[in-house]
Amino acid sequence: MLSIRSVSKSFGALRALKGVSFDVPKSRIHGIIGPNGSGKTTLFNCITGHLKPEEGAILYQGQEITGSSSHLIAGMGVRRTFQGGKLVSSLTVLENVMSGMSQFSIRDYGDVFFRLPFRSSRKEAEIEEAAREALALVGMEKDAERWAVDLVWAERQFVQIARTLVSRPDLVLLDEPNSGMGTQETELVEDVIRRIRDRGVTVVVISHDVKMLMGLSDWVTVLNFGETIAAGTPEEVQNDPKVLEAYLGAE
Ligand code: ADP
Ligand code: MG
Repeated sequence: MLSIRSVSKSFGALRALKGVSFDVPKSRIHGIIGPNGSGKTTLFNCITGHLKPEEGAILYQGQEITGSSSHLIAGMGVRRTFQGGKLVSSLTVLENVMSGMSQFSIRDYGDVFFRLPFRSSRKEAEIEEAAREALALVGMEKDAERWAVDLVWAERQFVQIARTLVSRPDLVLLDEPNSGMGTQETELVEDVIRRIRDRGVTVVVISHDVKMLMGLSDWVTVLNFGETIAAGTPEEVQNDPKVLEAYLGAE
């Protein structure tokens, strides 16, 4: 589904990613862990076309997408969340989720842009149905008519996840989906991610929550200072001396 091949990305003198490689087969959960600043979000930005890597190649369903525009990549069935969970406060939960149908991100265009096209579209009912289904998957179907501004932090994160699903993507990238959440909410996030995978969607999850990722992922890549220091099944990675020393040992 996704193949990352020797991807490097620098910001001036800072080498944020150094030759990162991994493959994600279809319908798997791939975890990416690493301390703050290790390059996790930068990697997502390279995959989704928000940043262009200097070196390496990114293949999606066998097709090279390196350096393609974020619109094009989203249009091919790749959706993501952003760290921190921004929603449009002036829209309802349902409308926020429906806005995920557009391949343009809220970040890029603001609410006015996407409000018009789907409001006037004959497809609105279909999009609404898909949005309600996505909300049900994250356990928020009863919250559809609430205003986004009234949501608490954890609810925002779940709405962001629902927003990635409305267009029925093949690949979903989740950036710190349980950040700022307690144990119980984190367990709900885990359930949601498994349900997404069970629908045949491939999921790549970033987290600094080692415990969550180890329990959830089929395969884990560990980044440290932009480099892959370990990769394998959770069991393999957990017992890797390099990981214990550089990261897990410090937990
Ligand atoms: P993580 O998501 O693992 O916490 P990031 O990918 O956000 O890490 O950042 C990796 C490194 O690259 C950090 O040192 C960060 O400060 C730097 N960085 C990220 N984005 C930019 C940017 N747009 N411009 C300059 N430096 C950046
Ligand atoms: Mg990050």
